[in-house]
Amino acid sequence: MSGTTLLKETGPREVFCGLTSIVWLHRRMPDAFFLVVGSRTCAHLIQSAAGVMIFAEPRFGTAILEERDLAGLADAHEELDRVVKNLLKRRPEIRTLFLVGSCPSEVIKIDLARAAERLTAQFNGQVTILNYSGSGIETTFTQGEDGALKALVPLMPSSKEDKLLLAGTLANPVEDRLKTIFNRLGIKNIDSFPPRQSTELPSIGPGTKVLLAQPYLTDTARELKNRGCEILQAPFPLGVEGSKLWIEAAANAFNINKDLVSSTLEPLILRAQKALKPYVEQLSGKKLFLLPESQLEIPLARFLSNECGMELVEVGIPYLNREMMKPELELLPENTRIIEGQHVEKQLDRVRETNPDLVVCGMGLANPLEAEGISTKWSIEMVFSPIHGIDQASDLAELFARPLHRHNLLTHKELEAV
Ligand code: SF4
Repeated sequence: MSGTTLLKETGPREVFCGLTSIVWLHRRMPDAFFLVVGSRTCAHLIQSAAGVMIFAEPRFGTAILEERDLAGLADAHEELDRVVKNLLKRRPEIRTLFLVGSCPSEVIKIDLARAAERLTAQFNGQVTILNYSGSGIETTFTQGEDGALKALVPLMPSSKEDKLLLAGTLANPVEDRLKTIFNRLGIKNIDSFPPRQSTELPSIGPGTKVLLAQPYLTDTARELKNRGCEILQAPFPLGVEGSKLWIEAAANAFNINKDLVSSTLEPLILRAQKALKPYVEQLSGKKLFLLPESQLEIPLARFLSNECGMELVEVGIPYLNREMMKPELELLPENTRIIEGQHVEKQLDRVRETNPDLVVCGMGLANPLEAEGISTKWSIEMVFSPIHGIDQASDLAELFARPLHRHNLLTHKELEAV
């Protein structure tokens, strides 16, 4: 960590809020429902982000409270109760209902935790009602998942059995693949959190070793630790290096023979490095600027510099959990400039000054930067793409090579047209 430059910045931010995580959480747990307690803006965000899902079998909705002339808090609670009752009457199959808080002042005043408790009691075991905040004032878009998982931890049964718990949503095929690797190493008792059904929460306790698959689960990790789980220290499973060290952290914790680990991983590593090669040629030497949005910035920066040869201009991150990020920070090149927090205007000034080849940023900043001739990659794409694990390293690199390739094509076309 000593080799990196850690700075803080505050000011105007340009990020998606935690409501966005509903888009992947509702796919992960089809028996759960996410009720956004918010405004028409929130409804618009969640419908446009989730696209066509709303017309098919929606598993999220919005209790719009903003436009009601609320005389007092009692009215807000009544309105919420009414919406929840109607919803559960129409959809009796819902087993877990998340009340997701948002920004409007009317919503902030509602005690959603109390409302969740009261409604759970009213429905008498038919459904579990939980709450968390997706408000853009408090969260970036991946923190929504942290809030949802933290709310689920108290419901997880206790157990003392030895097991590996993979925490953080992964694409199902990627998760299956990782479990197969752990099985081959002899780690058979593996659970995932969140589970694929909200009612099938894994048991946890002193024998549980937690491997975090995502770097944005600060609160969830703390809650799991409070329940006696051990959080394994490892980089995150992005790229060959991160995934190898991540798997090895679990193997060490379960005292797996080192020869078995290397004979299992070596063929995967060789294959992945071969698949990476064409992308390394495209990315090597290119200047990369990451703006803070997803919390994945540090593992991505580590992969793109160490394995793809990119030059890190600046690595922005919404917030820095030093303990969780320690193994990642140790792998970053000397003097990497890391900025925690955001002052979007100052950051954009630095982007223009340093003229990077590629900027990783939110969708709202991508268009203006593209208009200035700067190639961009949307950070939100990383949470919707299967990028974890050794096998996925080349797919991850391809996500960054694509905009550079596109930029080259456009520049050539423009030159030809002159
Ligand atoms: Fe709703 Fe706030 Fe998110 Fe806007 S930033 S969509 S108001 S929660």
